[in-house]
Amino acid sequence: MNKNFILSSFKASAKDWLDWRWQFKNRVTRINQLEYFSGKPALQKETLTAVTAVYPLAITPYYLSLIQSYNENDPIFAQCVPNQREIYFSEGIPEDPLKEDMHMLVPKLIHRYPDRCLAIVTETCATYCRHCNRKRFWLRPNHLSLKNRFQKMVRYISESPQIREVIISGGDPLILDDHTLEQFLASLRTIPHIEVLRIGSRVPVVMPMRITRDLCRMLKRYRPLWFNTQFNHSNEITPESKRACNMLQEAGIPVSNQSVLLKGVNDSPEVMKHLLYGLQKISVRPYYLFHCDPAKGCMHFRTDARSSIAMMEKIWRQCSGLCLPQYVLDVPGSAGKIPLNMMSGAIKNDLKQHQHFFDKFK
Ligand SMILES: *Cc1c(COP(=O)(O)O)cnc(C)c1O
Ligand code: SF4
Repeated sequence: MNKNFILSSFKASAKDWLDWRWQFKNRVTRINQLEYFSGKPALQKETLTAVTAVYPLAITPYYLSLIQSYNENDPIFAQCVPNQREIYFSEGIPEDPLKEDMHMLVPKLIHRYPDRCLAIVTETCATYCRHCNRKRFWLRPNHLSLKNRFQKMVRYISESPQIREVIISGGDPLILDDHTLEQFLASLRTIPHIEVLRIGSRVPVVMPMRITRDLCRMLKRYRPLWFNTQFNHSNEITPESKRACNMLQEAGIPVSNQSVLLKGVNDSPEVMKHLLYGLQKISVRPYYLFHCDPAKGCMHFRTDARSSIAMMEKIWRQCSGLCLPQYVLDVPGSAGKIPLNMMSGAIKNDLKQHQHFFDKFK
């Protein structure tokens, strides 16, 4: 999709394009708009409208511009354009497969592992990913005021000395403005046992203009601060997203990546390798590759675990260690993220052949 065509449709300037507030305000939220930008009638328009009533549609003009062909085979299209399969065959599928809601002792603070907790500071995102395992939140925003939510979280964390790391997540925390975000970071930094902060945000991928000089200058003051983003396909590695990651890195903030393994998007060895090499080239460290959770509305993205393990093992044997994420399955409770690397027969066989390596060093 052509950027200039999108700009002229919005009667906007090149300067608007670089302004994250403009991008956020002009998110595409209606099937009609998608129809207009694709230049062809939407198939199953009524069904797709029904999908958006359950799981809203929002795509930044920037992310929309990354669509190269308007169909499901396009990896950007598949990640952001509603699909009828989100609401079909969803009977009996859990909305919250990881039982996160059970681990909320205060609203929107998930404390599943002893030494770290995850704060959901907003339910809104710049672009809604169709594969999101928290899509249950989109239509059910929390009614506490943000200030109240922060207060309750900060109190819980300050009374829990075993917590040393806070992950600021959502929704997408970077849809908040710098000042609001800073208030939360600053109050967390007053807690003596909080050693590390982490931000989980897809903004570098879907709205990279949000990473501004001012934001980086502010974030820099709250280091050690780690940043995890979510690139799922090499088409998302653009001059703009590269620049956003580089600005964070220049502020002393390491940027890592958590991908989701998505059927039809990145589940072939060539596509995955291209993504991992691409990330290494922009100095973004692949951290996790999540096996897609069995969440309601996401089932059509799930790959077959056995063949995915085989795919990752192939990559594991070919690629530099710096390109390799930990391929994990997230399960409810404190068992957490179970590594799926090295599970196949081939690897077990290799291990068996080198058994003496273990024994010798015993
Ligand atoms: C994934 C996750 C974390 C962070 O786990 P790491 O392995 O440290 O990346 C923390 N809290 C919750 C609820 C999570 O789901
Ligand atoms: S940015 Fe994250 S929370 Fe938001 S829709 Fe995408 S995966 Fe879900």
